[in-house]
Amino acid sequence: MSKTATAAVWNGPADGFRMANVALPTLAAGEVLVETRAATLCGSDLHTIAGERETPLPTVLGHEMVGDVVGVGGRVETHDGRPVEPGMRVTWTIGASCGKCRRCVRGLPQKCVALRKYGHATMTGEWALSGGLASHCHLVAGTGIVAVPDTMPDALSTPANCATATVVCAVRKVGVTVGETVVVTGCGMLGLTAVAYLCSIGVRDVVACDVDAARRSLAEGAGASAAVAPDELAGAVRELTGGEGAEAVLDMSGSNAAITSALDLLAIGGRLGLVGSVFPTSAIGIVPEAMVRGLLTVTGVHNYAPGDLVEAVRFLDEQADRELFGGFVPDTFPLDRLDDAVAHAVAKRPPRVAVDPRQG
Ligand SMILES: [Zn+2]
Ligand SMILES: [Zn+2]
Repeated sequence: MSKTATAAVWNGPADGFRMANVALPTLAAGEVLVETRAATLCGSDLHTIAGERETPLPTVLGHEMVGDVVGVGGRVETHDGRPVEPGMRVTWTIGASCGKCRRCVRGLPQKCVALRKYGHATMTGEWALSGGLASHCHLVAGTGIVAVPDTMPDALSTPANCATATVVCAVRKVGVTVGETVVVTGCGMLGLTAVAYLCSIGVRDVVACDVDAARRSLAEGAGASAAVAPDELAGAVRELTGGEGAEAVLDMSGSNAAITSALDLLAIGGRLGLVGSVFPTSAIGIVPEAMVRGLLTVTGVHNYAPGDLVEAVRFLDEQADRELFGGFVPDTFPLDRLDDAVAHAVAKRPPRVAVDPRQG
């Protein structure tokens, strides 16, 4: 094995990416070295690259990825207790947590006081290879590692550890059950995944909403009962629920307009899950009396716990229609054409663009 990794180092919007050789780490106990097979550009990566989101510099961006284990420090187990061994294809949680602090103990490891987050760390410390846009990634202790079944193509498994696991967590936190009508606002990767996941667990009607016609058509392909523009949403929900309203709304758009109208879509006892607002937003008004009399619940969801990633991999693996999720990641670029990959993601707006560090 070569002693260095190749990384696309992000130096901020003014300087962009620079390819660099980075020494491979000496693994401590509990650590794992992975050779990256593919990484996808998440919306938050694109926000960072556009200068809309702060990140420590310099850094290796990318946190949606899959790779092969090439080194293990001592005995390390997957989240479900299997020994991690060289050659195993794995995905892992977006953050490594301590497991002991008050937040970890309360089941909120994604908010651990000592959280180390992949694709969000400065390279200047001992954790130079923390991101997906590099030939290797250094998994630190406290990471939830999940084996990827041999049956899953890389393109299907890559978004598991951000988009899919976040969707699974949102559905768990909002408490969606069979027989309900659920609205999904915003049909990028998270919204499309939510539509497919809600359909797979037997939700009666899933209503998708997006301003973009191409994304509405992808949402129909993912199983939505209706995929509508924002001005058609209230009518579609009234029609499907006999005027009762939707039992739940999951907002993946982060749009304050979508969130404000979502409150009016809810049935008595309805739940609103806010997932998409992961950038600075302004305040919106609520009517406390409507919240009280409507028995409404609003839940914020950010990232997820390791069990959600296990469920995400299970769900993706059971997808009979692999072409659906393959279609969400239509294009793959080599790492040395990363600037082209970013330009393509911005111009064409497919749900995801993949980067394969082994190509080129
Ligand atoms: Zn992400
Ligand atoms: Zn902790």
